[in-house]
Amino acid sequence: MQPRVIFVGGVSRSGTTLLHRLLGQLPGVVSLGEVSNLWETGLKNGDLCTCGELISSCVFWKEIGERAFGGWGALDLHEMERLRGTIDRVRFLPALLKGKRSDAVQQKAAAYASYYAKIYAAALEVSGARVVVDSSKRASLACCLGMYADIDLKLVHIIRDSRGVAYSCTKHVLRVDSVGGATLGTASPMDTSLNWIVQNLALEILGRKGVSTHMLTYERFIDDPVGLLRELISFAGLSVDEPAMRFLSDDHAVLDTGHSIGGNPMRAQTGRVSLRLDDVWRTHLPRSDRLLVSALTYPLLRRYARG
Ligand SMILES: [Zn+2]
Repeated sequence: MQPRVIFVGGVSRSGTTLLHRLLGQLPGVVSLGEVSNLWETGLKNGDLCTCGELISSCVFWKEIGERAFGGWGALDLHEMERLRGTIDRVRFLPALLKGKRSDAVQQKAAAYASYYAKIYAAALEVSGARVVVDSSKRASLACCLGMYADIDLKLVHIIRDSRGVAYSCTKHVLRVDSVGGATLGTASPMDTSLNWIVQNLALEILGRKGVSTHMLTYERFIDDPVGLLRELISFAGLSVDEPAMRFLSDDHAVLDTGHSIGGNPMRAQTGRVSLRLDDVWRTHLPRSDRLLVSALTYPLLRRYARG
């Protein structure tokens, strides 16, 4: 049977970490965080799992490596990274979305996606869960998985107001998974706007190509987290009883530790976590940047705001 995978797609700083953590609290679901960070920053650079161990030393991830590849030492990381550079990039999105079945793009995408499929299958075996969550976000990977992988993909496309994303992307945020104290990358409002358009459009097209997709906005999600999580439970084909939803209310969630990779600083928070709309951009994003981002992203922004 194909592994069922919820892929959380969207632009960075759009609420993807929160979403994968809430999904990971559900019975029958194992959330891995951003699997795209496993290869380079996780295994090569020695980043931390949310349990506090190096990913290469974490018992959970070790077991996944054993089942997927016969141990991380047997995995050809160089080949994986070579493939990634030839397919999992924004510039390959047009070719990926064409979906031709006979060209070199198809072969590379299928080979690349097979690494992820092995990780998902192994994670389901190790955890005993029915559904695995990957919050790797980017559209090029979602295309490889949705169109070329032997998995049952459920794409959850989360969209945040472009001005909020642009403001967040100008701020330096300390990465809690990095041993060396690195920060999440920053981007100019212009670059963020272009990325916001490309990523969101590509994820939308993927849905029109037949990939099972559920779209939601970050703002609506924060306004009604319980209702939206119920929608996602139904979308993923899960059945969750009321007691299992008690970790979540309209203004906070109670979160456990997990074994996930990448994400923003809330990825490792446990216990009671407040759910509040982050709309600081309304007062802190300079007016010129606000006008620029609004103008560049206007047609999509308006459509998404209407729901
Ligand atoms: Zn761990």
